[in-house]
Amino acid sequence: MKLNICIDIDGTVTDPYYWLEEANGYFRSDLKPDEVVCYDIHTILGIPRKEYDIFYDKYGEKIHREALVREEASTIVNHIHKNNKIHFVTARDPRMTTVTYEWLDKHDFIYHGVHLLGSHHKIEKARELECDIFIEDRYENAVELAKEGFKVLLVDCTYNRYENVENVTRVYDWEDIYKEIIEYKLDLLTRAS
Ligand SMILES: [Mg+2]
Repeated sequence: MKLNICIDIDGTVTDPYYWLEEANGYFRSDLKPDEVVCYDIHTILGIPRKEYDIFYDKYGEKIHREALVREEASTIVNHIHKNNKIHFVTARDPRMTTVTYEWLDKHDFIYHGVHLLGSHHKIEKARELECDIFIEDRYENAVELAKEGFKVLLVDCTYNRYENVENVTRVYDWEDIYKEIIEYKLDLLTRAS
């Protein structure tokens, strides 16, 4: 039995705070990871969204290219890939396609597909891919997906520590994610027998 595993990119396979250094330099701020308590960075910086968008337009590609990878992410994703289908599903804009493929390649990820949606709404793509498990770091996405019946693994970050929701399991690292996937699969097999 192969599961369709959808994986977001930023904050799940990348380190969630890798963009901070560039943003701090640009905005002359001194934000630390534990101060990033909500997903919308412009809110924390106290600036209009437009200003952050200008920064992202200028440096987004560089930031994605230099993103740090989370510990064990590629080893575990590639291990899961042996018996399941791996689909990267990101809100990144399609103009980030090349840098996204290059980064995944640089860090040795093996996968079946990459989807750059240019939007945070991932339900349609999850349906199309017949997603069994969605790995996310953005709380709002997790809630939206869970409400539609998808099982979500929410990777713990300072900006997603809100109330627990049914169908959403909080995970802390890739070993944790691996355990959850194996348990889910075992559970399905037991029920089917
Ligand atoms: Mg993300």
